[in-house]
Amino acid sequence: MPGPIDYSKLDIHPDYDSKEWWAGTKLHKYLVRQCKDCGHKRFPPGPLCAQCNSFNAGWFETAGKGTIHSYTVIPKGGLPAFAEIGSYVVALIELDDCQGPEGSLVRTCGVLVDDEDAAAIGLPVKVEYEAGPDPEFVFPRWKVSGTAPDAWKFTGE
Ligand SMILES: [Zn+2]
Repeated sequence: MPGPIDYSKLDIHPDYDSKEWWAGTKLHKYLVRQCKDCGHKRFPPGPLCAQCNSFNAGWFETAGKGTIHSYTVIPKGGLPAFAEIGSYVVALIELDDCQGPEGSLVRTCGVLVDDEDAAAIGLPVKVEYEAGPDPEFVFPRWKVSGTAPDAWKFTGE
């Protein structure tokens, strides 16, 4: 199991597009941008809809559940906040309730609570929240929440 992340060493400056997202995580809500004109969902939160070029954007509250589309293992943290965590997994996660264009799912990126042994492509994950030292910021982290018959991982063989 990876060690703790030292959130005090992350320097976060929410901007116009991300301040409401951070307000959502504080309430344990995992939000994605949703276009108010065409309904397209997207992450990370940016100002412009890639489907219809509208700036008329709102938010969609996801269920905070998804599937590991891919992942990588970081052997030793590069950022100071990750210096004590040891080896950890960063996953590309397809959000279950966020249909994107042409049948794809909206993807987000997250650090897993679980270690490399628990991670595999195709496994379901759910978001969890960790409080940082600053009460203004609550950090999402993802945990493997089940099994999948078609889960796959590189074994080196
Ligand atoms: Zn749109």
